[in-house]
Amino acid sequence: MKLLSVIVPCYNEEENVSYFYEELLKQETALQEREIGLELIYVDDGSVDHTVAEVRKLHEKDKRVRLVSFSRNFGKEAGIYAGLQKASGDYVVLMDADLQDPPALLPRMLYYLEEEGYDSVATRRVTRKGEPMIRSFFARRFYRLMKHISHTEIVDGARDYRLMKRCVVDAILSMKEYNRFTKGIFGWVGFRTKWLEYENIERTKGETKWNFWKLFLYSLDGILAFSTMPLAFVSVIGLIFCLLAFILILFTIVRTAIFGDPTSGWPSLVCIISLISGVQLLCLGIVGQYLSKMYMEVKNRPIYLVKEEL
Ligand code: UDP
Ligand code: MG
Repeated sequence: MKLLSVIVPCYNEEENVSYFYEELLKQETALQEREIGLELIYVDDGSVDHTVAEVRKLHEKDKRVRLVSFSRNFGKEAGIYAGLQKASGDYVVLMDADLQDPPALLPRMLYYLEEEGYDSVATRRVTRKGEPMIRSFFARRFYRLMKHISHTEIVDGARDYRLMKRCVVDAILSMKEYNRFTKGIFGWVGFRTKWLEYENIERTKGETKWNFWKLFLYSLDGILAFSTMPLAFVSVIGLIFCLLAFILILFTIVRTAIFGDPTSGWPSLVCIISLISGVQLLCLGIVGQYLSKMYMEVKNRPIYLVKEEL
């Protein structure tokens, strides 16, 4: 008999914990037909509501429900990593607590894994229904940009809803980086992946934890973690400005030799100085971003801290 571990990162999801459990159990017969057992791991990401109490109640009822509770909010990426580490299943699936990842897809996903020989089955939403327009717009731009500046495949609309075989889980766990951009990590490890598409489903209860600013910072994390193109960009800008400066020097020397040196050119001087110092600060900032990520990486802090486990 095989075991399927379902990992559910939860941050303030008290309304969804038991609802998710019920919805998931609807797939139980399909799992039994395939002789697959179930294990459900809720990773509480430092919730400040009754999420932990809800999970504890479920655990009393059903010992297949497990809990990993963090000492504070470490972010969903840390939750995913902890869940993968704790999972003991032959198959592991990641799902959101808000039922935006329909459990009804599970039997089909398992089919691709067991019958068609795929190593992982990933999902992407083809619509962004119910999402603010600007958010969709910038999300699309981000994926377009990533396509150009990164060798890692990061798929537009990809969700974290993913079923994996043990080999894929172990590969992901072998990437111990502190700055975890999971969407990129999935692409980076490779393996034969089947993509399933579905329409966006809106969250059942509670609020999304993402606002525009958080998403923006998250996209920067993604760029920094999976592309060094901004650094190349900085070098190119440096080169271009050196060339321009060289031409300008020649021009100035020749002009002074021919026309003498009337003391003028203050406005152009101000423009040049402010432009160049702006560009310099921008480039320094880009380098600084990589440095700050390196700093966090070098500190080698744990990705999460556990307060309680059931
Ligand atoms: N989540 C988490 N830690 C966080 C933020 C979110 O574990 O700091 C969980 C959240 O409880 C949910 C999943 O990650 O199960 C997806 O979050 P959300 O639904 O807010 O994101 P969206 O679906 O809007 O992208
Ligand atoms: Mg959601």
